[in-house]
Amino acid sequence: MDTKSPLLPVFAISRHRLKTDGKGVTTLVGSYGCPLKCHYCINPHAWNPKTLEKCTEMTPEALYERVKIDELYFLATKGGITFGGGESLLHADFIQQFRQICGPDWTLTVETSLNVPRTQLEKILDAVDDFIVDIKDLNPSIYKAYTGMSIDKTLYNLNLLSQHISQEHILIRVPKIPEYNEDRHIHASLEKLKGMGFENIEVFPYVIRNKQ
Ligand code: SF4
Repeated sequence: MDTKSPLLPVFAISRHRLKTDGKGVTTLVGSYGCPLKCHYCINPHAWNPKTLEKCTEMTPEALYERVKIDELYFLATKGGITFGGGESLLHADFIQQFRQICGPDWTLTVETSLNVPRTQLEKILDAVDDFIVDIKDLNPSIYKAYTGMSIDKTLYNLNLLSQHISQEHILIRVPKIPEYNEDRHIHASLEKLKGMGFENIEVFPYVIRNKQ
C-alpha cells in the first residue's frame, strides 16, 4: 500500500443509483466523519465512533479498483461517483487524488454542508464537477440550535462556491426542519441564497428518522 496516499474511512458503497445523488448513474461512497450534530441526523452512523471500527480504510487507488466496474454506465449517462457522508469535504485530499486516478470523464459529485475550513473547499474546486449542499437554515441561531455549530464557515464557503463554480453545477437544498424553522425562516434563507447568486435551490421536508 502507498503510505503517502490519503485514506478514506468507507462505511458504505452503493452502486447503480439513478439521479438520486447526482447526474446519471452514480455510485455513492459513504465516508466517516461529520463536524455537525444535526438533531434529526439522517446518517448518525457517519459520526458514531462504533462505525469507525467497521469502516474499510481505502486509498484512492483501492477505491478506483473497486468502483471502476461501472465505468461504462458512468460514461454512457455522464454519471460517476458521489462522495457522501457524513461530511465529504473532510476528505478533500482523498477526492483530489481520486480525480487524478479516475481521469476527467467521470462526474464527481460531493454532498456537503460546507461547514469545513475554507482550505478544504479550495482543494477540491478544480477536482469536483457538482456540489449538492444541504445548508440547514441560514438563520445563525436556528443553525446553531439545530447543528450545534456556528454557521460562519458555511456562509464563507457558500460565497466562495458561488464565485468559483457555475450555477448549473450547484444544487442548494433547504430543509423544512420540524420544530426548528418555519416558512418565514425558509423564505429568508431563499432570499439570502438568491442574493449570493444561487439559482438551483430545492426546498424539501425532513423525514424524521433519528433524534439526537
Ligand atoms: S450533516 Fe447533519 S445530517 Fe448530515 S451526517 Fe452530519 S450530523 Fe448527520
